[in-house]
Amino acid sequence: MEKQTIQPFLTVANYHLLEQQLSKILHALTTTKDKNVILAVRGLVDTEITLKLALSAEESMLVEQLLTVTDRAQGDAILEQLKPYVIPFKPVTASTLKALFKKEKKLKLPNLEGFNFQQICYLAWDDPGTHRKYVILEQNGELKGIKGTFANNTIRGICAICNRHSDVGLYTTSIKGQIVGTFTSHSNYICADSQTCNEHVTDMDRTREFFQRITKK
Ligand SMILES: [Zn+2]
Repeated sequence: MEKQTIQPFLTVANYHLLEQQLSKILHALTTTKDKNVILAVRGLVDTEITLKLALSAEESMLVEQLLTVTDRAQGDAILEQLKPYVIPFKPVTASTLKALFKKEKKLKLPNLEGFNFQQICYLAWDDPGTHRKYVILEQNGELKGIKGTFANNTIRGICAICNRHSDVGLYTTSIKGQIVGTFTSHSNYICADSQTCNEHVTDMDRTREFFQRITKK
């Protein structure tokens, strides 16, 4: 096998963006025969990738194969080839999680083996008994833990994390205020299914901004 000399350069969110952009090209190919329209879509995809991903010349060559795709099988094969270049989510263990939620007396830990770290932008799990949803994400190279309650009754709406239309529920986080005994609460609609949500995150900066906003004092 050929030796991989290019280091992993795609974040999980970058990879999701490429999946999304590939779908745009495939959609154009199945809905029109107009060569100019298809060319325009390929052009838009190229612009989107260039804008969102800062790639070296070698990395670009790998990614830009997607622009020439003519069918689904070919597109999937290229995406598969790009997988080794994805930087997975930081490895975490049960003790990492316990350390992040030190104050949680009855922290219910998730089954970490159930997560594919190559596919998650943030790590989230639910405790159905307490309606808590725990989230872990990386910020400036460090892991950060966020705890909130998730209201069970879901509606169709826009998720504040992935910005997609899906089954969402109200997620409420409370942060201790500067003055003892005071709290600031934030409530936002987010996807009920965090795994599906993860698959649709294409811009990690926006996701980080969201979590920063809801953890502000
Ligand atoms: Zn979502």
